[in-house]
Amino acid sequence: MVRPIVIVHAGAWNIPDELIEPHLQAVKKAVRMSYNILKNGGSALDAVETAIKILEEDPHVDAGVGSFLNAEGEVELDAIIMDGKTLKAGAVAAVKNIRNPIVLARKVMELTNHILLVGEGANKFARSIGIKEIDPQELVVEREWKRWRELKGRKIDIKVFFEDKGNTVGAVAMDVEGNLAAGTSTGGIPMKMPGRVGDSPLIGCGAYADNEFGAVSTTGHGESIMKVVLAKSIIDLISRGYTAQEAVVMGIRYMEKKVNGRGGAIAIDRLGNIGIYHNTPKMAFAVMSDKLGLIADIQCREDLLSELL
Ligand code: ASP
Repeated sequence: MVRPIVIVHAGAWNIPDELIEPHLQAVKKAVRMSYNILKNGGSALDAVETAIKILEEDPHVDAGVGSFLNAEGEVELDAIIMDGKTLKAGAVAAVKNIRNPIVLARKVMELTNHILLVGEGANKFARSIGIKEIDPQELVVEREWKRWRELKGRKIDIKVFFEDKGNTVGAVAMDVEGNLAAGTSTGGIPMKMPGRVGDSPLIGCGAYADNEFGAVSTTGHGESIMKVVLAKSIIDLISRGYTAQEAVVMGIRYMEKKVNGRGGAIAIDRLGNIGIYHNTPKMAFAVMSDKLGLIADIQCREDLLSELL
């Protein structure tokens, strides 16, 4: 029997002071519930789906309820889940009226021969399996309306903007059988063009899991992450013998060097080592295992991490 472990993140950017505590509460709640599943013999996939669903329900983060609005003031959601045992993945992109896109992504993985469904096709599939479509307004919170009104008509440098705010969510888990899973869910980036799909629902970019090597979930500037196929790059580093922590550091630094990209990643390698790193001011995360107990923070402090690893 393997000792289970789970890590969750709630986005790698800056977190305004008033949102620090809600972020910490959110990641702690998600990691606790998720770890509980693993402790009771549940699968890594269930643990990842549960953690992300909890975070999608949290209005303080950019996934599900509380997501950023696109240029037309609408929420469009992307999510992915991946099973390290089979390399099966399921994802949805640009869905508008689904409350928990991670649940739909898992159904895509389990019930179809495809990996990614988008827009109206994803909605049709949701209807066909009885996933309720909601009024898209249910996903909109006043904070994001305010931001939308402030940004409307302004030319924003999205990279600079990202220094300030962004909170996609993700999780990676290892269950008692040693199976790995990864998932990511997001409302994307503020003022994105309608139809813009970021890295998060793309296999190898927003998440990747392979029992032989590890599981990774990423967050950050999607167009940068896509250029370096960040999640799979980190897995490839692990496959070359680097630990999870070395691999996330190297992956993020490579993205910074090549495309000046900002972001973060969490990872578990097949030996159960953890990796947490970001080159943004902050990234809310929580990790839970027998060995570490529950650790949550809004910054990966290298001193703290080196003690843990
Ligand atoms: N990666 C996400 C996107 O570009 C945003 C984020 O992680 O905050 O859609």
